Amino acid sequence: MSAQFASDGSMVNALSIDVEDYFQVSAFSEHIPRHTWDTVPCRVEANMERILALLAEHNVRATFFTLGWIAERYPGLIRSIVDAGHELASHGYEHARASEQGYGQFLADIRLAKAVLEDISGRPVRGYRAPSFSIGPSNPWAFDCIAEAEYHYSSSVYPIRHDHYGAPDSPRFAHEVRPGLLEVPVTTVRALRSNWPAGGGGYFRLLPYLVSRWSIRRVNSVDNESAIFYFHPWELDPDQPRVDGPGRKARFRHYLNLKHMDSRLRRLLTDFRWDRVDRVFLNGVE
Ligand SMILES: [Zn+2]
Repeated sequence: MSAQFASDGSMVNALSIDVEDYFQVSAFSEHIPRHTWDTVPCRVEANMERILALLAEHNVRATFFTLGWIAERYPGLIRSIVDAGHELASHGYEHARASEQGYGQFLADIRLAKAVLEDISGRPVRGYRAPSFSIGPSNPWAFDCIAEAEYHYSSSVYPIRHDHYGAPDSPRFAHEVRPGLLEVPVTTVRALRSNWPAGGGGYFRLLPYLVSRWSIRRVNSVDNESAIFYFHPWELDPDQPRVDGPGRKARFRHYLNLKHMDSRLRRLLTDFRWDRVDRVFLNGVE
């Protein structure tokens, strides 16, 4: 069991943000190739300012799984994250899915990201999250790479059924996947003999907020486990430029209910206790 409690006895959950820009998401990768990223207007810095202000307002610390590519271009942003007491973690260097790389390529990407983030922040980086939760039964070797790159935990599996990712038969809660390497799967709720997403993503914007609240409460009270939730800076940016090319489904998922995200997050921050992933799942060690 992985549950962290506050001094008043309430359960503490882990809040995480995947720091990437709107044009770096996997669903758009064919339409905005990596070599053109430097020519696209960036919005991550302004969106991150809003997130940092929102967290400060609610006195919440979180974990930021950040791309090495972003860190190199916005070192000031990295310093703002750590100066505010948040945990800096890695989302890889250039948002390449683990499932689309070989062993050596994947290892090089996650090592480079760790080195860049540690260099800029001056802090050890212990957590890693694979882009698009791209670790599952077909590529368990990815955990060998993550251990070899000397990360202490990963949060790279979403144990749900999904057309682009997901490993529905993987364990739902934190477990040791390699000696000294913990996997903290994004939170799911068990209902109707299936796992349902309860830790963020498009569903948080698609379904009414009360569904998310019910799900996280259920994980806390019935499973007796701390939850881990994630969102992206671009989800708080209804005015982001629209990307031409992706199919209807990809656009629906990306642009749905962006204008409600701010108020939903405020409710989420008020209804639950939140902290950094390392404090909730690595036995409070900093
Ligand atoms: Zn991502």
